[in-house]
Amino acid sequence: MTKYIFVTGGVLSSLGKGITAASVGTLLKHSGKNVGMLKIDPYINVDPGTMSPLEHGEVFVTKDGAETDLDIGNYERFLDMSYLKTSNFTTGQVYSSVIERERAGGYLGQTIQVVPHIVGEIVDRIKQAGESHDILVVELGGTVGDIEGLPYMEAIRQMKHDDEVSGTFFIHVTLVPFIKAAGELKSKPTQHSVQELRRIGITPQMIIARSEIALPKTFKKKLALSCDIAQDSVIDALDAASIYAVPMSFLQQNILSPISKELDLGELNPDMNEWDSLVKKIVSPQKRITIGFVGKYLELKESYKSLTEALIHAGAHLDTRVEICWVDSEEIEVRGSQELLCDCDAVLVAGGFGSRGVEGKIKAIEYARVNKVIYLGICLGMQLTLVEYARNVLGLEDANSVEFDENTTNPMVYLIDNFINQSGSTELRTHESPMGGTLRLGEYPCETKKGSHLADAYKNKEIIYERHRHRYEANPAYREALEKAGMVVTGESHGLIETVEILEHPWFLGVQFHPEFTSRLQTPNPVILAFVEATLNNVES
Ligand code: GLN
Repeated sequence: MTKYIFVTGGVLSSLGKGITAASVGTLLKHSGKNVGMLKIDPYINVDPGTMSPLEHGEVFVTKDGAETDLDIGNYERFLDMSYLKTSNFTTGQVYSSVIERERAGGYLGQTIQVVPHIVGEIVDRIKQAGESHDILVVELGGTVGDIEGLPYMEAIRQMKHDDEVSGTFFIHVTLVPFIKAAGELKSKPTQHSVQELRRIGITPQMIIARSEIALPKTFKKKLALSCDIAQDSVIDALDAASIYAVPMSFLQQNILSPISKELDLGELNPDMNEWDSLVKKIVSPQKRITIGFVGKYLELKESYKSLTEALIHAGAHLDTRVEICWVDSEEIEVRGSQELLCDCDAVLVAGGFGSRGVEGKIKAIEYARVNKVIYLGICLGMQLTLVEYARNVLGLEDANSVEFDENTTNPMVYLIDNFINQSGSTELRTHESPMGGTLRLGEYPCETKKGSHLADAYKNKEIIYERHRHRYEANPAYREALEKAGMVVTGESHGLIETVEILEHPWFLGVQFHPEFTSRLQTPNPVILAFVEATLNNVES
């Protein structure tokens, strides 16, 4: 039977509940436990797939093709595990299934209500996510007191007394503000937040307090007394030099002993040696490179969370600080690529949707190609690589992706009307297909070509697996012309073009998949690692 650790948030949002949950999970995993992770999002969208990255941050894609909250990415990066669809659900999903069941006659004779039906569905989903794990860490999105969070609070409260649950532990993450003028830490917001929780029937067993300064012992004692928890269960979470330093900081405060005592987990001695040495390399590395990161969602850097983290992972393994020079693709359209990219050791063009900034990205690619600057293009960055080559090398002036010009006579990137999806069935796709959940999503195999940079990156593995999130595909009608002109296909998936490289270039790779989704601190993604390594070698020589 599974044990459950619930992580709720108080006072305000953005306190790093996701990192807290991932850090607790990491310590338990390194203690030999089989740990599952679940993020609950109380919004009504079925998934974040149709939200703007500027609204919600990145949409993370799981191996089995779910578009999920970016915290699932944190979990995978920390715990070095692949989680599935069941690791994230939203209010939209909960209501959809209850309403669907009601229409199918699943509740004949009953009035469907929040309690017990919606709450029951929530409990079922949490237990489903917990199946086959020793421990499930559940992070509840939002803040205590939010109206939309109430059914979830009720569900986790009920789980305390569930016969199918072998133990529960409640962690509350709050803010302890430091009032500079008075030189004082304030416990009141935490007390109020805990009172609110207790009104609902949940007494937290641990407080994790975000604060600017370390909490003195006397303050911890006061907080413990006023919140009715044990003194060893007040943990402080100071701003860390790297998010990956958080598990170690928790461990130093013996976070595992109250958890283990309550959940009867026995003695826990996590082996964090490798982790610790990677964190040291993130915090004070020997070497340094600068990557020109060309994108368009720059107002919210969380939009590229997995990619920026993947660069950190690769850097940690190469003892290198990967400095990011953010370059707005629309800015390139105005000022040109030379001026904005000339100080960068490499160019990275990230994925994206919609036409804004596309011409700037094409200019950045041309700059990297012509000046033989190390280049990696991801998803849209790969598609535009084809467009750039077609326009400037093949001389096809109006070459484009049909996403941006439906009437181009040279559709380098097009909408295939059907393809074989992950489960082996044919999926139809047209311009009229609905927007939600209709992308090529999740993990697909890719055959690598011997001798390519791609094959090299994956240590000559013939078949690799990476994740996708896109609607359009490279058009194979142009393959022969491109290859004759020096741009070769080095990766294929069921006949679809997955990667391209330029032979006469030190390192120029476009990948249709998103390598960043499989990068973890302990196992960096091979493409990103090879990209950073190529840049480093180039700088050193
Ligand atoms: N907009 C492109 C497509 O839908 C690329 C998507 C992406 O970069 N993730 O195919």
